[in-house]
Amino acid sequence: MLSNNYGAQRLSQAALSRSLFLRLAASALFPFVGLRLSAAAAPNPELAQNSGPPRTKDAAAPGRMGAILVSQFGPVKIHSYLSPVDGLQVNTQMIEGPNAVVIFDGQLLLPYADEVASYVETLGKPVDRIILSHAHTDHWGGLQILTERFRDAHVFALDGIADQVRAGGPARLDRLRRIYGDKAATKVTVPTETITEGPQLIDGVTYDFKRFVDGESDLQLAALLPEQKVLMAFDLVFSPNQHAFTGASHFDHWMVVLESLKALQGYDTILIGHDTPVGRSAIDSTITYVKRAKEIHAASADAKTYSENLKAAFPDLQQAGFVDLSASYLYAAPD
Ligand SMILES: [Zn+2]
Repeated sequence: MLSNNYGAQRLSQAALSRSLFLRLAASALFPFVGLRLSAAAAPNPELAQNSGPPRTKDAAAPGRMGAILVSQFGPVKIHSYLSPVDGLQVNTQMIEGPNAVVIFDGQLLLPYADEVASYVETLGKPVDRIILSHAHTDHWGGLQILTERFRDAHVFALDGIADQVRAGGPARLDRLRRIYGDKAATKVTVPTETITEGPQLIDGVTYDFKRFVDGESDLQLAALLPEQKVLMAFDLVFSPNQHAFTGASHFDHWMVVLESLKALQGYDTILIGHDTPVGRSAIDSTITYVKRAKEIHAASADAKTYSENLKAAFPDLQQAGFVDLSASYLYAAPD
């Protein structure tokens, strides 16, 4: 199983200024603010690993801002692009089968989506489709670039996600552009195709798609690759080294979802929405986190108390900005 030694070389998390936090909280930049806007995008560190599938860090493009981890499973390769901190360390997963590439998630910012697209082109295979895991902006903002550069690839998502993106997208992009300028998308990319639950063969690779509600977000895809024993959990599971986003307030049901993921035997490699892949212990650490966050939420009368107490409960975790944003949602005045 994978160890957590990725954490030893993680980027440090800068403190988030209060003014920036307020701007982001007001912007409904869902869900993360663990970023350092004042600093240039730093390249990610080497991605270390001791076990699991054979992995290499791609070094083909020295100027690349994000990091790419390549995992080989016989004829199938999984290429994981991880954006720098100002892109919220969000992943795009590229599943390379014998004849095509399937892309999961499209990045927050255009420059990173552009790096993804350029990398995919080096694989020399057409993009079969692009799949969006959930409707949070950090996963679809860059789809504008991917759909421009891969015009034959349709964007798929679970039924309901397109409606969420369509409804909330324009306002979020307006605010993103005020923060990120030209790095943010100019148009909302709404999925046009629906993913059905259950097993499906795409380019010879078996995917088992699962639909989860009321976890980290209201509606979330997970994808099992039964032959590779890989669980693509996206934002249902967080790195043991980072705070999780709890702003959707689904503490109890998120823990139910996590228990059901835990019941999936044999899936020792878990690809998550943010940060490098984790092992099964990350499910437990996410449960521990959500449980504690629930208790703190119940005992905290306001956002400031929730933030302070949750950070104090997990003093070693990175991305403390996630906590502040979560608090702003949990204690927001009702509309
Ligand atoms: Zn996310």
